[in-house]
Amino acid sequence: MTYENTLDFARRLDAHDPLRAFRDRFHLPLGPTGQPGVYGCGNSLGLQPKAARAAVEAEFQSWEEHAVEGHFHGTSPWMHYHETLTDATARLVGAKPVEVVVMNNLTTNLHLLLISFYRPAGGRYKLLMEGGAFPSDQYAVESQVKLHGYAPHDAIVELVPRAGEHTLRTEDIEAKIQELGDSLALVMLGGVNYYTGQAFDMAAITRAGHAVGAKVGFDLAHAAGNLELHLHDWDVDFACWCSYKYLNSGPGGTSGVFVHERFANAPELPRLAGWWGHDPSDRFQMKKGFRPMAGAAGWQLSNAQIFPMAIHRASLALFDEAGGMSVLRRKSEQLTGYLEWLLRELQLPAERLEIITPSDPAQRGCQLSLLVRQRGRALFDYLASQGIVADWREPNVVRLAPVPLYNSFEDVWRIGQAVATWANHPV
Ligand SMILES: *Cc1c(COP(=O)(O)O)cnc(C)c1O
Repeated sequence: MTYENTLDFARRLDAHDPLRAFRDRFHLPLGPTGQPGVYGCGNSLGLQPKAARAAVEAEFQSWEEHAVEGHFHGTSPWMHYHETLTDATARLVGAKPVEVVVMNNLTTNLHLLLISFYRPAGGRYKLLMEGGAFPSDQYAVESQVKLHGYAPHDAIVELVPRAGEHTLRTEDIEAKIQELGDSLALVMLGGVNYYTGQAFDMAAITRAGHAVGAKVGFDLAHAAGNLELHLHDWDVDFACWCSYKYLNSGPGGTSGVFVHERFANAPELPRLAGWWGHDPSDRFQMKKGFRPMAGAAGWQLSNAQIFPMAIHRASLALFDEAGGMSVLRRKSEQLTGYLEWLLRELQLPAERLEIITPSDPAQRGCQLSLLVRQRGRALFDYLASQGIVADWREPNVVRLAPVPLYNSFEDVWRIGQAVATWANHPV
């Protein structure tokens, strides 16, 4: 696409955007002037879908009217509530319904999956992850490694970019996997790195991991609802993600889990168990002896969190209504492409502003990470004063994530204008 740096051009793109009506399905916070702001932080907390409140109200109503009988009565009995999320979740991540379940929160699920899929034994005990992974993932992995009696500095191998580069090359990841060979128990990466915005080639990494006999899993916190995913076809062993970032399901919202079909009937796989993962045919007989349900559902512990799930269900419905991730991705690539183009137009020297997210759309989602070596915090503050909500990561990165469901090309143009103003008159 050929872009132009004018408001008129941005508005023309919006007028022709088949997804433009979805913006109005979300609550957009007002900026400091009382005018609608530009929300560039959907990678951290997605906006509230207007349908969320009614979805939660319906469950308050059910509780009010039916109390304990709400498990069996009401518009969506709680006993089977989580099952109503399965099909939309499977579509979202490219999975079969048996491969997904919605439950708990992300770090909790990461632990549950690591218990099953990080099974160090003999000389095979290493775990490969990104250097500078999201802290919760680092802590989870560190504690799991210790749980098995290994020293983190020995068992955890971190991938770091080549000197002078900001992101990882797929060939370097593959080479490291080969080098670790039969000492490698697990590859565990983010699908999209939260800091750089780099999207990894999950199919290639999974192939490389399997070729040396390792398991491969992904934390999709920044990938779910952002990228087109084909977890089943990519042959990924497991994955999990949160729902409050690109999936717009509210702060602390519930989490999704993928376990490949080949483990659907593997009761011998070690796991931490709870009654909600037990075979439902005799779950309520309260008998001894855990028998897991088939598929990802067999990793459930507790009865479903109805309120966060009500929000999540309302939000997932919007993804389906929009036509799914392939449709959203088309707009997303254009939005982010426009933002990148506007920033490059400024021709700022790299010491002032460098986009560290890969330029190749296949290697990124909607987020651009700007490395601002001088007065980065001032840029972030200036954007905020202009009603532009970005995200600041110490020591010097501003993250901006125009998302296709509710951001417009005009939003992106306004971000470009604000960065240009800051660049000309550093505040
Ligand atoms: C957002 C995020 C988390 C947050 O974990 P919670 O358990 O939901 O608090 C963890 N890991 C990654 C990679 C994230 O991006």
